[in-house]
Amino acid sequence: MTGQGQARVAGTRVRLFPQYPDQPTVPLISVTLSTPAGSLRPGPADDRLYVVEAIGKRWPYGPLRLPGGELRAMQPPWQGDIRTPACPDPAGHLDHLTPGTRAFAQAHVYGCVRFTLDQWERYLGGPLAWHFAEDYDRLEISILPSLDNATAGYGFLEVGEWPTEAGPPSSFCLNFDVLAHEVGHLILYSLVGLPDLERTPDDYYGFHESAADLVAMLATLHLEPLVEELLAGSRGNLYSYNELNRFAELSGSEQLRLASNQRRMADFAHGWHKEHALSQPLTGALFDILVDVFHEELLAERLIDPALEDLVDQVQHEPAAAELLQALFDQAYGRDPAALKAALLAARDWLGLALVAVWQELRAEDLTYGEIGARLLAFDRMTNGGRYGRLIRNNLAWRQIGLIPVGPRLTPPDERSHVHSVRTGQPVAVPSLGRRLSYRDRWRRAHGS
Ligand SMILES: [Zn+2]
Repeated sequence: MTGQGQARVAGTRVRLFPQYPDQPTVPLISVTLSTPAGSLRPGPADDRLYVVEAIGKRWPYGPLRLPGGELRAMQPPWQGDIRTPACPDPAGHLDHLTPGTRAFAQAHVYGCVRFTLDQWERYLGGPLAWHFAEDYDRLEISILPSLDNATAGYGFLEVGEWPTEAGPPSSFCLNFDVLAHEVGHLILYSLVGLPDLERTPDDYYGFHESAADLVAMLATLHLEPLVEELLAGSRGNLYSYNELNRFAELSGSEQLRLASNQRRMADFAHGWHKEHALSQPLTGALFDILVDVFHEELLAERLIDPALEDLVDQVQHEPAAAELLQALFDQAYGRDPAALKAALLAARDWLGLALVAVWQELRAEDLTYGEIGARLLAFDRMTNGGRYGRLIRNNLAWRQIGLIPVGPRLTPPDERSHVHSVRTGQPVAVPSLGRRLSYRDRWRRAHGS
């Protein structure tokens, strides 16, 4: 009977911007982290991660080319002076801090990272073992305003600022999507391993970006007020491509926007330039699978009529069907919005558990998109009696995953490649320096500007 009757220690409250707060109307969402209230130290800092804002730090972590040409690895921990750290309130929470202050940004970056880890550790069934655990107990979240990016690497997640067209720069500390995506890279380095630079298959590059986007997307779908807003806006109709795009618009989420794309493997059969583009067929397939599993949940709970399924197929060819489809979803949502939300959360959790299971089976050296599809089907057979087999196979086939292999890299990997970036740089093996595509560029591209 150990543990029964004992009061559970509540978690730590923090307020997060669910999307980048470039407009003053974006509301904050209060979330509770797994960190027991009262256990946080100034930083914020816990047993797994800590935030520091260094004074006088000139270079980001990772490989650094000195003026004489010598290559050095800049490594955590920062041992110099630091700016005043954010402190919890007397009850141990962080939701007392005021947006616009340094302390708020420090608490926000901590909150985004901890929140994302919390959700994925639930899928993992326990704490994530950092891939750098041999050298560091904790992840250093370093706030470095002179960096115009956010990068995760060996023992660190370094967070810079984003120059805005008008006004002062904005900090990536406030960007949930970007931070959750970086946590995704860290999770993958732990589960799938670091690549051997000599033997990394092309699929690995696209896979890493895709999986990091999916980590962020599913983390976003744990921000329940955001989920409610998405469902209220779409009435649960996530099926037509138009609606998928609207879904992304409504969320303001870069990850959802990138997920609802129409790229297929044929687009990359003759080769590829950028891993972010190469990631899109895989991300798109898994997003469409999420939507179809949501659909299956709705059918199983009798929240929608089986006749809807035919309409979904017709929508792409017959615009008139779209109106009827929307009307039927309007009815379903009107009857029971809470049930639609429960179905979406169930689909989200199925995909989260499935992805963790699949990723744990992969090896960086020889993974392929086709293998990911096959392992997803195997997971469904093992845990679900193959209930989703048909929809998984259909989506993989439409994206041509497992049918058309990834073509060769057409641009040398010294530009924008994560493998030749600070991400994979272990202290002993410093890869060459290269400029990666910055989040500012990705953001602009994703938002059509
Ligand atoms: Zn990335």
